[in-house]
Amino acid sequence: MADPKYAEPIREIPQAEDVGELSDGTKIRRRAPRMRACSLKNEKGKLCAGHLKRWYFYPPEVAQRFGADAELYRCERCLTIYLPNTDEPPRSGTLSY
Ligand SMILES: [Zn+2]
Repeated sequence: MADPKYAEPIREIPQAEDVGELSDGTKIRRRAPRMRACSLKNEKGKLCAGHLKRWYFYPPEVAQRFGADAELYRCERCLTIYLPNTDEPPRSGTLSY
């Protein structure tokens, strides 16, 4: 099946889905499955690739929109907000009482 001409390594970047933005222009996106780094490109087409960190202390506007205890992530570089991917199974090993 594979054509040698196209046998280059596939570096597939998971694509996040744009969800909207906050009133201050902060972008909100939904993570692709197993996505760990920001896939946003800047004006020059360069990939941000900042790490997505769990975001706990978000402003009231965000809490109103997604709930006060929403699972949110934020890119450490461009500060884009990422929602968890719904296809992703809940992280195992998390204690729930
Ligand atoms: Zn970013």
